[in-house]
Order: sequence, then C-alpha cells, then structure tokens
Amino acid sequence: MADHDLTDQELADFLEDSLDPIRTATLEKLIRNSPELQERLDRIRIRFDGGEHSLGAVWQRDRLSCPTRDELSAYLNQILDPAPADYLKFHLEVIACPFCLANLEDLQARNAEQTEKNRIRQSRILESSAGLLQKLQEK
Ligand SMILES: [Zn+2]
Repeated sequence: MADHDLTDQELADFLEDSLDPIRTATLEKLIRNSPELQERLDRIRIRFDGGEHSLGAVWQRDRLSCPTRDELSAYLNQILDPAPADYLKFHLEVIACPFCLANLEDLQARNAEQTEKNRIRQSRILESSAGLLQKLQEK
C-alpha cells in the first residue's frame, strides 16, 4: 500500500484511535517509515483538533515514540506498571519496532551475562566455604 492510498479521513480516524487494531498497526508502521505521512498527520491533527488536544490524538502521537532503555529494562525484569507494559508489548510485538527490538536483545544479552557472572561468583563462594570447612575439619 502506497502513502497516497491513505485518505485524510483515515489519518484523522487514526489520530482519534477509531480504526480497528490491525489497521491502526498497519498505519502506524507506514507513518513511522514516512516523514511525508508524519507531516500530513501533523497538519490533520492541527486542523481537526483546532488546538485542543483530544485524548486519542495525544495517545496516538505518544504511541509513535519509543520507550526509554530504562523502561525496556523494567519491562524485561517484569517490574513495569501494567499500562506502560501493555504499550511496550504492543510496540514490540505488533509494531515490531526494529530499534526497540535491538535494544531489548542487547539488554537480554547483558542480563544473561550478569546472571552467568553471579552464578560463577556464587559457586566460587560455595567452593571456598567448602574448602574452608574441609580445612577446619582436618585440624
Ligand atoms: Zn521503538
């Protein structure tokens, strides 16, 4: 689907969050990759909003922005609040944002590395206390 296939009405519906989720996700992908569409969307937003922000428009606009690395990290550790976690899930699984997916992969790799380090450290502590115990028993 090319950019010019989208009508202003459809873009307005997108802003108002009144399209079905699949269409919304499709449009979001198109808009993300098209500065031209982003510009059109901005113009429509100004025209339809008349300066007052509808909740839908604010929500959609925010939805186009990526979460921070801290938020991604919190999401990974499952300590993120349900609402932002839902947004993140949508952003990663439906939008499949390549930037955030790469970021998440990197965080996952770091987490795994950290877990491995902790495991090694823990087994060292265990070994050394076992060794200490043995020494004590030998005395
Ligand atoms: Zn993203």
